[in-house]
Amino acid sequence: MKYFVKTFGCQQNAADSERVEARLQARGMTPASSYEDADHIVINTCMVRESAENRVYGLVKNLTELKNKKPSLKIIVTGCMVGVAFRDKTGKVLKKIKKAMPGVDEFMPIEEVGFDFAPIRTSKTAAWVPISNGCNNFCTFCIVPFTRGREVSRPYEDIIEECKELRTQGYKEITLLGQNVNSYGADLIVGEKNIQVMRDLPDKTYFEEKALPKGKVPLKKSPAFIVNGRAVEPVYVQHLGRLRIPTLFPHLLEEIAQMGFERVDFVSSNPWDFSDEVIGVMARNKNITRVLHLPLQHGDNNVLKRMNRWYSREEYLSIINKIREKIPDIKFTTDIIVGFCGETREEFENTVDLCKKVGFYKAYVAMYSQRPMTAATKIMADNVPHKEKKRRWQILEELVNKPHIESYGENQYHMHKKSTYAH
Ligand code: SF4
Repeated sequence: MKYFVKTFGCQQNAADSERVEARLQARGMTPASSYEDADHIVINTCMVRESAENRVYGLVKNLTELKNKKPSLKIIVTGCMVGVAFRDKTGKVLKKIKKAMPGVDEFMPIEEVGFDFAPIRTSKTAAWVPISNGCNNFCTFCIVPFTRGREVSRPYEDIIEECKELRTQGYKEITLLGQNVNSYGADLIVGEKNIQVMRDLPDKTYFEEKALPKGKVPLKKSPAFIVNGRAVEPVYVQHLGRLRIPTLFPHLLEEIAQMGFERVDFVSSNPWDFSDEVIGVMARNKNITRVLHLPLQHGDNNVLKRMNRWYSREEYLSIINKIREKIPDIKFTTDIIVGFCGETREEFENTVDLCKKVGFYKAYVAMYSQRPMTAATKIMADNVPHKEKKRRWQILEELVNKPHIESYGENQYHMHKKSTYAH
């Protein structure tokens, strides 16, 4: 029996597909060279843009024709579309995708794949290592919290073991993956009754949790303990005005950086969780990436609020400057959305202005499109005309990306691709 896996979307999906392959091979299957050659076809889907979703429908339609000629062919759909369908308690989404793709034999939640088998990696030098899955942030435009669910961190020791093994196998480059790598481990903190708690459950947190006036740093900090017994100090989060369980990402990043890899990368980071500790670890360890992806999404404070992004343009710039101060050779890439609900010309100009101030090395610019279940779709109007979205997209492309394509050439431009569709 042979299988073929087709992956849409971001690196996280690509890494998930490597584990899907491992599971299929553990069942005795071997890779097929094409769709026609396969007995099982697995499609790992993406929903972050409408266009990605439509490509899945198109592919399944074509494969259903193939299945008509070869009835033993099994089509399995997994990934984001299935994630949303299984999380939708009304059952309407599952019904809708079943109706739209009648040729599909199985809709498989990606969580079923698990981490029991070592991923089948195509590269022998560079490896993706997922460290967490899901997101708790609910940016109003983003479907990820619905496709992947709440943020869950992989156990610290499992990640360390996997990286050590990769080092032994001769891998030179590692990319740590998560929707929010900077909040990795926030759910691995031990709570009062020795249970793991999520940082978003205020009644379960372990130390002072009371909201303080913005800018006021509490004097008393009691330690929190992570699952392996290590004590960590709570951190003060300015935009929340309170202490929060710190994340383990700086510890994890440094431990992996010191294993001897030539390059350690990570994607994606949220500006509000980008701590001084992470900057310090990056500065100390020269093998950690010097092309940092820091999603901006927008350069106007009102739009950032409408997007439920927890930082202002001033705070974003201040993080950039702080990182540049400690790591002068750093380059920044980013994600930007144009034409978000109600975006005025003036608000858009603030994004242009911020891009000029930062001097991004590359920007993944997307025209806003409504995604099901998100707050923006439910309560805001998608009222910027497509033509205007395109115009704004073009302006940012010309400003940020074109100069680099011209000076580095198309190949090098793509080599640095760090797209995180999700952000
Ligand atoms: S954009 Fe990123 S941080 Fe915001 S909800 Fe989506 S995955 Fe989470």
